[in-house]
Formats: sequence, C-alpha cells, structure tokens
Amino acid sequence: MITCKSARELEKMRRSGRVTARALEKLVDMVRPGVSTLDVSACADELIRKEGGTPAFLGYHGFAGAICTSVNDQIVHGIPGSRVLREGDLFKIDIGALVDGWFSDMATTVSVGEPSAQARRLMDVTQRALGIAIEQVRPGAHVSDIGHAVQTYVEGYGYSVVRALVGHGIGTALHEEPPVPNYGRPGMGSVLKPGMVLAIEPMVNAGTYRVKTLDDRWTVVTADGELSAHFEHTVAVTPDGFEILTLAQSAPMHNDIPQALKAKERGTLDATQTAGQAATG
Ligand code: MG
Repeated sequence: MITCKSARELEKMRRSGRVTARALEKLVDMVRPGVSTLDVSACADELIRKEGGTPAFLGYHGFAGAICTSVNDQIVHGIPGSRVLREGDLFKIDIGALVDGWFSDMATTVSVGEPSAQARRLMDVTQRALGIAIEQVRPGAHVSDIGHAVQTYVEGYGYSVVRALVGHGIGTALHEEPPVPNYGRPGMGSVLKPGMVLAIEPMVNAGTYRVKTLDDRWTVVTADGELSAHFEHTVAVTPDGFEILTLAQSAPMHNDIPQALKAKERGTLDATQTAGQAATG
C-alpha cells in the first residue's frame, strides 16, 4: 500500500530530511585523502544523534555502519571500515536518519581530491539524472515516468542504470511502496498523488548495468569493475509538483531543483562529448 502523508507528517519528514542533509553537508567537507570510511561513518553517527535522530541504516538487517560508504566500482551498501580514501577515488555516501518516527534518505557522490575527466563526467550525468527524475514528480504522473526519464538521459551518454536496485517510498518505514526503478517504459505503475514521498536514487555505471555482491553480503559492485555514481533525495509529491525534503536549509524549495542538480550550461558535459556521440562510443 502506498501511503499519503498529511501536512503534519510532511513537516516531520522535512525535519528528518534536514537532519540528514545537514549531516551529509559536513561529511562531504571532511572527505580528503587519508580519511577512512569508518571516520566518515563515526562522524555521521555523531552529527545525526546531536540533532536528536538515529542513523537509519545502523542495525538495518544487521548492517554495521551508521551510513553506507562505497568507493569507485562499489555502487551502494559499502560497509564503513578501515579503507582509507585516496586521491582520485569516487566516494559515495548514502545516509539516512530516523527523527521523531520519520525516515529520510539521501546520497551523494564526491571525488577525493581531483577527479579524472571520466569520473567527473559520470558524476555530472548522474547528478543531472537525479534532477531530471525529480522534475517528473507531480500528481497524475506515473512512477515509471521517473525511471524512463533517468534511463533515457543516462543511456544517451553511453552509461547504464543499475536495475538490481531501485528507489522506494519512504515514511515511517525506510522502505515503503512503491518501488522506484531507474529504468522502464513511461506511463506504467502507480499514479503519483499529493502526500506520497519517494526516495529517488539513480545509480549509474560507466560500463555494464550488471552488478555483483561481495562476500561481505552487503557491498554491491559493478560486474565489470568500472566506476559507478549515486545521488539520492527524499521527495514529496505536492498538489502542484514536488518538494525536496532532504535539503540543509530550512526554507522548503517547492518545484525548484537545487543548482547542484542542474548540468552546467554547456559545461563539462557538453565539453567532453555530446549525448549522441557518447552513445556510440
Ligand atoms: Mg534509498
């Protein structure tokens, strides 16, 4: 069943989203060569608890970290540990908080030091794909419109979208109905209604969409060892469109995509290769 949240419940989810977003902002600032993934997770734990929340992933089906930390070919669900970040690593932080009974979930990809041109382009495309996905959210749209928009955009650059893992509804449970795939045909599945809240999270691979799970039974990696990027926001359906709930500032941004999710006009994306050329390359 897909639940629609009341105005009061959405206010609580907004607060939860703010706790998560503020923590993530600080974590991104601490990323540099020499920092371990456990350092980042410990900091996340402290930041979330300081604001009265609980790390959403800690203990989830036995998960050992406060956040998921995934590096390079690791797509999602990396367990924080002794791995030390190195210059040029592509580092994904997936973070969630439970605040006053309500969950929020978000993720970002950052480069440790200077990214390669390849890594930069993958990050930009994935971040923009999240922006395009969020722009699909409005009452009357279908859930699959989101995935269709992501897949079309991402594959236009010659990249692939992960199929084994999908976004999800979110609320008093971390994972609620409906599933939100990053692929598929438009006009299918549930119809969006005001009050629905979705965690939208494109996972984009430089090579194959196929994945493997490591022996730790958590870490999901690309089957071909190529890079992967991941961005996520918790997004509410509003009467006239969408509202992103995982934002660090207190003023809600209705129907507005944060600057970071917009491709720089004629910037790094177009400078490297146009979409059409990339698809054949
Ligand atoms: Mg999620």
